[in-house]
Amino acid sequence: MGISIVKSEITRYDSIDWANLGFGKFFSDHMFISIYDGTRWDDGKIIPYGPISYEPSMMTLHYGQTIFEGLKAYYNVKGGINLFRPDMNAKRMNSSAERLCIPLFDEKKFVEAIIELVKLDQKFVPRKKGESLYIRPVCFGSSCFLGVHPSKEYTFIIITSPVASYYPEGLNPVKILIVDEYVRAVRGGLGMAKTAANYAASLYAGMKAKEKGFSQVLWLDGIQHEFVDEVGAMNIMFVIDDVLITPPLSQGSILPGVTRDSVLKLARDMGIKVQERSIKIQEVLESYEVGTLQEVFGTGTAATISPVGKLYYKDKEMIINNNQIGPIAQKMYDTLTGIQHGEIEDKYNWIVHIEI
Ligand SMILES: *Cc1c(COP(=O)(O)O)cnc(C)c1O
Repeated sequence: MGISIVKSEITRYDSIDWANLGFGKFFSDHMFISIYDGTRWDDGKIIPYGPISYEPSMMTLHYGQTIFEGLKAYYNVKGGINLFRPDMNAKRMNSSAERLCIPLFDEKKFVEAIIELVKLDQKFVPRKKGESLYIRPVCFGSSCFLGVHPSKEYTFIIITSPVASYYPEGLNPVKILIVDEYVRAVRGGLGMAKTAANYAASLYAGMKAKEKGFSQVLWLDGIQHEFVDEVGAMNIMFVIDDVLITPPLSQGSILPGVTRDSVLKLARDMGIKVQERSIKIQEVLESYEVGTLQEVFGTGTAATISPVGKLYYKDKEMIINNNQIGPIAQKMYDTLTGIQHGEIEDKYNWIVHIEI
């Protein structure tokens, strides 16, 4: 059985401020929804985007048994629409699902549902470079019951949102606060899963940092507060002495980013020396002191590459590469967005092309 489709009778297209898309403010006409009844996922259907209703006892509201994903559909300059490595999101959603005791969802079906949804709402894929249709799968325990154990029923939904680039500053370097008072995740916890709890844990420190004029927080490991984990909701990379360094997934509290993986592959193929290893904040400070800290940038689907211009740790200010985007960050941004929009050959078979 395929995915059934109920088309919306009205369109939200004209209510969208296409000149000021921002991020996550507008939604397209349809959504995909599939229900797990305790035994199996149903075939799923595409229906008009709109409210869903649950009783107040719905388990996820209380115990947070929920996971999500994020990927984008890009307009291809030669026509059609490109998805970027959606199979990676399907896999990652299932590894998050396993950690949160959520039943696995068929990975082929995950990609198929996205393709059907994007095809149906193709006019919502912005044509401008840098803009895209953000795709947000979310899956949560939806039994109505109060009691701490995994839900019996689950709801899986995919919504889409036309977006501009994530940061209003564009590729301009951001100002980051390194915190050691609060942590986002801890080894053995949920850091490797894309789940709401990690975001809830990050809000307070993020808000405090924003009040002080920073755009994001850099997280240190949750045990010794010594090793670099991630930056905001992105993976982090350093260029020290011409070596691209990023913390290893084995650190235990790092989300395995699709952008991270792609940047590491590109860098190795470009002949850049790459190290996936733990890096102490002390090493970052010392390399800054001796002048070998060349670049710092975050990687993630929302912003692709986000250069860090200023880093603050305790009372110390570090200005990275004169507060300019560095050559490796720029090269990664150009290559990734080039592949995503079909301007650069996709040597890696990363693109799933949708004919329209
Ligand atoms: C989603 C996410 C990332 C980036 O992953 P991508 O697949 O590259 O978008 C990094 N860190 C956290 C905490 C995330 O939630």
